[in-house]
Amino acid sequence: MSAVPGLSRLVLASGNAGKLREFSTLLEPLGLEVVGQASLGIAEAPEPHATFVENALAKARHASAGSGLPALADDSGICLDALGGAPGVHSARWAAMAGGPRDDQANNRRVSEQLQGQASRAGHYYCVLVLVRSPDDPQPLIADGLWRGEFIDTPRGEGGFGYDPHFWLPALGCTVAQLAPERKNALGHRGQAMRALLEKLRAVTAP
Ligand code: IMP
Repeated sequence: MSAVPGLSRLVLASGNAGKLREFSTLLEPLGLEVVGQASLGIAEAPEPHATFVENALAKARHASAGSGLPALADDSGICLDALGGAPGVHSARWAAMAGGPRDDQANNRRVSEQLQGQASRAGHYYCVLVLVRSPDDPQPLIADGLWRGEFIDTPRGEGGFGYDPHFWLPALGCTVAQLAPERKNALGHRGQAMRALLEKLRAVTAP
């Protein structure tokens, strides 16, 4: 039984296996089944916008239109103070934008190079979530989360994905890749955003 009235199945507007795993863990206890858009034959939407929220909305609409289901999209990334908030919305393709490969290792290498000689290594992960009940939903639900940390050059840990082995949490003395998945969900930007979104969902579906 779904804990959210009127909502039992939704499509996740992402082909990222790491995100699908994290969202399924967060939503399954609520009785919500999460289906990845790739398994429904829906291609990745373009992300042409300068803001996270615009990209997430575009992705959610695209997945809802392709599936006929409510759709959840996230747009997320790492924003470093010394780089003026970059890689930001370009986090997934940061190395590719400079002519390199589109993979996590190359992205981390580029950031590491850019931070050489910088006084600050601080920054944050940011995530915005958008839930639309239909492609033309006039009232998308929007929530966000932010997680501060520091970028370190030498990777540590095997968990997570993307920038996690390089994202150091000074208060915990480890990187995000060294956290158990439940702990990442409890503390992280995506978990924070998800809990805020669920609050909003409950508010709009309350009797
Ligand atoms: P998106 O699919 O455009 O939202 O891409 C987000 C990108 O930001 C990912 O491909 C990662 O490079 C990075 N990112 C977002 N969230 C995380 C996270 O939790 N850990 C590590 N990297 C992340």
